[in-house]
Parts: sequence; C-alpha cells; structure tokens
Amino acid sequence: MGYHWAFLILLLSISCSASTLVDKSFKQCMLTRVVGSNSTSIERIVLNSSSSQYTQALDSLIQNPRWLNSSRKPFLIITPIHEPEILAAIACSSKLGLQIRVRSGGHDYEGLSYLANTPFVMLDLVNVHSIAINLTEETAWVQAGTTLGELYYRISQVSNVHGFPAGLCPGIGLGGHISGGGFGTMLRKYGIAADNVLDAHLIDKDGTVRDRKAMGEDLFWAIRGGSATSFGVILKWKIRLVKVPAIVTAFTIQRTLEEGATKLIHRWQQITDKLNPDLFIRVVAQNSGANSKTVTAIFNSFFLGGIDRLIPIVKASFPELGLQAKDCIEMSWIQSVLYFGGHSKEDPPEVLLQRTKSNSFFKGKSDFVKVPIPENGLEGIWKMLLSEDTLALMIMEPFGGRMNEIPEPAIPFPHRKGNLYNIQYMVIWEEKGIEVSNKHVKWMRMLYEYMTPYVSKSPRAAYLNYRDLDLGTNKLDNISYTEASVWGEKYFKGNFRRLAEIKTKSDPVNFFRSEQSIPLLR
Ligand SMILES: Cc1cc2nc3c(=O)[nH]c(=O)nc-3n(C[C@H](O)[C@H](O)[C@H](O)COP(=O)(O)OP(=O)(O)OC[C@H]3O[C@@H](n4cnc5c(N)ncnc54)[C@H](O)[C@@H]3O)c2cc1C
Repeated sequence: MGYHWAFLILLLSISCSASTLVDKSFKQCMLTRVVGSNSTSIERIVLNSSSSQYTQALDSLIQNPRWLNSSRKPFLIITPIHEPEILAAIACSSKLGLQIRVRSGGHDYEGLSYLANTPFVMLDLVNVHSIAINLTEETAWVQAGTTLGELYYRISQVSNVHGFPAGLCPGIGLGGHISGGGFGTMLRKYGIAADNVLDAHLIDKDGTVRDRKAMGEDLFWAIRGGSATSFGVILKWKIRLVKVPAIVTAFTIQRTLEEGATKLIHRWQQITDKLNPDLFIRVVAQNSGANSKTVTAIFNSFFLGGIDRLIPIVKASFPELGLQAKDCIEMSWIQSVLYFGGHSKEDPPEVLLQRTKSNSFFKGKSDFVKVPIPENGLEGIWKMLLSEDTLALMIMEPFGGRMNEIPEPAIPFPHRKGNLYNIQYMVIWEEKGIEVSNKHVKWMRMLYEYMTPYVSKSPRAAYLNYRDLDLGTNKLDNISYTEASVWGEKYFKGNFRRLAEIKTKSDPVNFFRSEQSIPLLR
C-alpha cells in the first residue's frame, strides 16, 4: 500500500490523532519544500479547524451561504502568498493523498471551490493577485486570485482606451472565471474572456509549472473554458487587452407587463443577436419579491461609442423600445464597469478593489435560446415568476456578433452561432433553513421544467460558469465517462470527448477531481 493511501485511510477514520498526524505531516512536507521557510511561516499559511483564522478565511468570500454550516468543510486551508508555497501545497496534497479544491474568487454557484464530501485541502488564492500590464503589446499577465474588479481598475489606471471582455460582477476571480468561459457586456464585440487568453501557467499535481509551450496545445485548449480545475491549478493567465473608445454609453429602460413588456421582449428576441456588435442589450425579467403583482423587464444596455451613434442604431433596429437621448448616459469604460457592477458610475473606481461576501441565499441555472419564445410561452414564464414568494429573475444576455464567428471547437466553450441569447435563472432568498431552501430550489426546478420546449435541445445546453449540480454529478470514487457525458455534453457539447481524452493523458491518476470534473476515458 502506498505511503499516501495509508495517510488517507488514517484520515478517513476521522480520529483526532490521525488528523493531527496528517496535519503535522502536511506542515513538515511544506517545510521541506519551501526553501527558506520555518515553522512560523508555515503555520501562518496552513490553517486547520482549530486555527483562529480558519473560519474567517473560509467565510470571507462566501457568495451563497446555503452551505455555511456544512460538514463538507476543508480539512486544511492553505493561504499562500508566494509561488513556491502554492507549488508545495499542491505537491504535498498529492503526496499525502488529500484531494484539493482551489478557490480564486469563491463565486462558484455550487460552492465546489470550498466544499467536498471527502477530506480535502482548500488552496485559497485570495492573496495571489499581481497584475503586469504591457501596453505596448496590449497584453497582461494576471494571477489567478485577481478579481475582475482589480483587473478592470488596473487597466483603467494605465489606459482609457483599453479593457477586457469578461463578466460583470467585480468580485469574481479570474482563476475560476476564465476556466469556465467568462462573458459580459463586450462578448458580441470580442467574444468571451477565454477567447482572449494567450498563455497560462498551469501547475500539475507534482507542483511543476508549465507555460503554453511546455504544456502543449491540447492542454492549453482544455483549460480555456473547459474546467481548468480538472487539469491542474492555474497560477496566472496572459490575456489580450481589447480596444474600447474613450466614451461608451449605457442605458436602462424598464417596462412592466401593463406597459407592454411581453411584446417588447418578444420583439427583442428577434433582433438582439443581429444588432451591431458594438451594442449589447440584455433583459432582466423579474418579480418584485413576495406578493408581486407584476413582472418588470429591465432593458440594460452597453454601447461602444457615444449617444449620437447609438440612437440611430437603436431607432433602426429596435424602434419599439422608444429610446431617447435623455435615457442614455455617456461615460468612460471603467465607469461602465461600475454601472454594471452594482455601483454608481460616480463612485470612486477604487471600490472595485473591495472583496465582498453575500448574505443572500440563491439557486441558479442556465439555458440557451435558439428560437424566439412565443408570447404565450413568455406569459407562462411570468405566471411562474409571480407564483414565487421571493425575488426570482431571468437574465437574458444576447449572443451573435463575434460569437457567431468563432467555431464551436475553437475552445471548449461551445455556445456559438445559432444561439440568440443565454438565460440565467436565479432565485434569491434571505431566510435561513433547509426547508426554505428546499422550497425555493424546488420552485427553480419547476421553472426549468416549464422552459423545456423553449430552449436548446439534444443536448439542452448549459453554461459551466453557472454551475448546476442538478445536471448530474460524478461519483468521486468511481467516475464514469458515460455517466459524466449526461452533464458534460450540456456544458461542452461535441468538445466533451476531446476534454476527456486530454484529461486521460494529462492527469491519468485523476488527482484533480470533483463532482463535475472532466472524467478519464475508460
Ligand atoms: C454574483 C455573481 C455574478 C456573476 N456574474 C457573471 C458574469 O457576469 N459572467 C460570467 O460569465 N459569469 C458570472 N458569474 C459566474 C462566475 O463566472 C463563476 O462562478 C466563476 O467560476 C467564478 O470564479 P471564481 O474564481 O470567483 O470562483 P471559485 O469559486 O473560486 O472557483 C470556481 C471554480 O473554478 C475552480 N478554480 C478556481 N480557481 C482556480 C484556479 N486558479 N485553477 C484551477 N481551477 C480554479 C474552482 O475550484 C471551482 O471549481 C457570476 C457569479 C456570481 C456569484
């Protein structure tokens, strides 16, 4: 029996003395591997459940407190600052047979970066967030623990005509975001974040770092939107910055059902993917919480240019919206980041550097729409939203433009030509308790069931970054390719098999595994 299996079995017996032994062995292993370390420096970054900083470290980035009191907590939390500590933490976990979960921004919808049903080490990259921008090359090297807010802020500090096409929420970590795709207001112009990655540093289970050249094109393909966490730990990404005008424009127009929201959304579906790629108009359809009387459609738009150019484009393609210059606000790109990130555009951009946690509970799901939903189908959705006694919403984000030009196999993220828009369903509640939680999750599953005739089929596609364990999960002790195909083909369509082939070659012992990791082919 191998050395690490002996430790794992000891740990699984959950006796206090066994975990103390593993804890000691882990720290000893770190001491040996991190040159210049001593027991104080290792104690500072290796936290067990009796460390005073353990709970603070675990809860500090929680976005969905559904699992706050879960028993699936990490055996150890490692909070490295320097690269050698990260490499050592991975190699020591592997040596001792401990599973590893990596957390960059902590936004995983199902908490997979900080929860597991098996003893595991959580590698927390919160302190690993340096950014090196090269404006001449129009590129940046960005460490995985960097948040989108920090990246956007740092870009804006050196240029008012550059940006990066990724998600809207400033607290999202680049480690998880690019690993699953990553899209926001500029996807119709520049594609998604993973389309704009030029190189990466990936760490394998032995703690070896490989760049694009050393890892090879297959592995480099897989980590861009194909669940990088199945292949290793991303230390940093090299990204391509994109050009933005000095002035961009945003607007938000709201219509209730009584004000004709249904017809307007119905019309929006016909034109949204065909609009000028500089223009992004999304719709958020939501109730107003308990006892809602109506659904409100919020048309929320970003435009790469000024009002003078925007108005004629919208008048020609979507006159029903009735957009006027007074509805529009011109701003810099970084102000648009604030506007879409839940701040006021007048807020100091430094607020983007803050990391936040959320006290609201949620369940999310996703779909892709290829054919406009008929008006009676939309009316059925509104009935569902009004039947829920807490905040429930659908965020519909347009595709088309650049997304139509990138072939499905270019990177693992396969949702390209033929998709009109993506739907993110969200139900959000404040009350604690398993019964309340089950009630809202059940409602969400009913809405998803209702949507079946209106969304993509064979497979019914889903977006990895809106992770949904209802789609299926691996049995961690015996991961089957056939069983995993059920959820894998929803996220990756025809790219799933290639991901499994690359996984089989690059991690044949399946060290990097989770409830939705890419399986080995067997
Ligand atoms: C409030 C909110 C708003 C969002 N808005 C958007 C949006 O606008 N657009 C969009 O596309 N998505 C959005 N998302 C989804 C988000 O992109 C994903 O949840 C993403 O995976 C989060 O990355 P993270 O690093 O913050 O999360 P984490 O929870 O840290 O990680 C997510 C997954 O990636 C793995 N991982 C993390 N770091 C690494 C690493 N360094 N190497 C390998 N694997 C790693 C984790 O183990 C986990 O499996 C949003 C999520 C939330 C909660």
